Amino acid sequence: EDDLRPPEIRSLAGTTRHRLCAGQVCVSVASCIKELIENSLDANSTRLQLTCIAYGADLIELVDNGDGIAEHDFEKLGLRYHTSKISQFEDLEYVNTYGFRGEALSSMCIYADVTILTRHASASIGTKLAFDCEGQVMSRTPCPRETGTTVSIRSLFNRFPVRRTELRSRSKREFSQALNVIQSFAIISRQVQFFQVLSSSDNHPPTSPLLTLTPSTSLKDTLAQLFGSKILESIIHIDDNNDDENRGFKFDGFISRPQHGSGRSSTDRQYLYVNSRPIDCAPLLRTINDIYRHFNPNQYPLVVLIIEVLDRSTLDINCTPDKRTIFIEHLSNICDQIRTILNKLFEKSSNVYVVSN
Ligand code: ADP
Ligand code: MG
Repeated sequence: EDDLRPPEIRSLAGTTRHRLCAGQVCVSVASCIKELIENSLDANSTRLQLTCIAYGADLIELVDNGDGIAEHDFEKLGLRYHTSKISQFEDLEYVNTYGFRGEALSSMCIYADVTILTRHASASIGTKLAFDCEGQVMSRTPCPRETGTTVSIRSLFNRFPVRRTELRSRSKREFSQALNVIQSFAIISRQVQFFQVLSSSDNHPPTSPLLTLTPSTSLKDTLAQLFGSKILESIIHIDDNNDDENRGFKFDGFISRPQHGSGRSSTDRQYLYVNSRPIDCAPLLRTINDIYRHFNPNQYPLVVLIIEVLDRSTLDINCTPDKRTIFIEHLSNICDQIRTILNKLFEKSSNVYVVSN
């Protein structure tokens, strides 16, 4: 008789809820790396060293020289919706940090084995913390360290066998997305003096760096470090000499010259930023690629477009958990302006090309 009763609506236990929702932030090696870099930058780090073993499947570790974490925060670190960055919804309009949702570390604890070695400026020695899958501190061990934090994520998805297998099979491809994320922060983070990435494809620790960025004097210099100095011959500055105060936004950046054939066959080097946040914005990219196609039908440009939106109340940065999608109230206006700027730029550079040939 019991079997005939319709299923009842039940409240799910806290841990079940937690596991069901965790997928929103740390869903891949690339998103774990993104969250780690954001946390280090938010902690005012100027030196970052990222190590990945087996393309991140076995280990993702970020060592920073940031502010470190104070002892009174140890127990809260791995808990969901625990953040030091905002205290109420209204703070979002003014938030200057990448993070504010307090989800990343707790999500990582569900998906992997997390340890944090940190030393706050006020502490005389570092502490190594190991977390369980609910984000509770399992152990604390004193450990020497300079001020800063090391977060280690081991065996991603080890409690999720289907995803673990899937990750292993596409880890190489996924790592190229991770590199793109790394580049996007390297381009925009002027505070960073040193950024090194080490990666291995098997389960041995990497021996030589994949990428080393040293202090750079300008955006141009950073691009040369990332993509090779030859890139400088083929990019042009996105000149925004409009000083209309009422316009509401400013543009800066670089884009491939159309006539140099310096573009790419894919859209893999296209970086957009709004108020220093790397974002995904399909309409904006489409606008840029459409104009470029008029001048070079065979390729996509390398593009770094940095937009500063002056009135922050016209932005919603909290549309998705990864904060890569943002809502911009005047997007169509921005697209129009970009169209005008790029058209002018490409026409000018085409003329130069014609004359010099
Ligand atoms: P959020 O970044 O949204 O606050 P996270 O889960 O990413 O949430 O991090 C939780 C908290 O842990 C942060 O608010 C911060 O106080 C602390 N934290 C995380 N990573 C670091 C780090 N590398 N250096 C210093 N503090 C950190
Ligand atoms: Mg964070």
